[in-house]
Amino acid sequence: MKLYPINEIFYSLQGEGRHSGEAATFVRFSGCNLQCPFCDTDHSRARAMTAEDIAAETAGNPARLVVLTGGEPSLFVDDALLDTLHAAGKYIAIETNGTNPLPAGIDWVTFSPKCGMADGADEIRLGRADEIKVVNTGQDLEQYFAMPQRSEKTLMYLQPCFVNDPDERRRIIADTVGRIKADPRWRLSAQIHRYIEIP
Ligand code: SF4
Repeated sequence: MKLYPINEIFYSLQGEGRHSGEAATFVRFSGCNLQCPFCDTDHSRARAMTAEDIAAETAGNPARLVVLTGGEPSLFVDDALLDTLHAAGKYIAIETNGTNPLPAGIDWVTFSPKCGMADGADEIRLGRADEIKVVNTGQDLEQYFAMPQRSEKTLMYLQPCFVNDPDERRRIIADTVGRIKADPRWRLSAQIHRYIEIP
């Protein structure tokens, strides 16, 4: 029986992107194929769980939305896990760096490209994106509209980087809001869980 390396499973609100504000069970996988210098994920902690174990933990929460995140969940997610979660009535979203293909059947794909930020990050193998979510670092934003994973339906989210210093945070937010006002193809993804201080 296949075992999946799970860092943690927790119940909270989605703070980013299209499903912001919705209650969701987060399934965080352990491990990633990239080494982004700013990564704050603990990749060392993992417990081995079966698809049934994972579904049983998500079943304890009333929310239909399950967010597969990481680490990099595309390294581990397969049809067996998707089928088990779907059979339990869950709606499955994933957050991926796009460097691996995904099995069909995922309900919502959030593509968070790390192009230019780590070795291997530019080798995109993802097929489709329902939303593209990028952190505003002052980079060229036009590059994301040229990505083949984007369609006319893909939602484009620009996210200010959350920092603890209030003055710097205000500056970053103002810059992000300014970029969206200058190019309204973008929407704000505010990481609201950080501002209301929930996991
Ligand atoms: S892709 Fe995400 S999880 Fe992987 S190293 Fe970069 S920031 Fe960390």
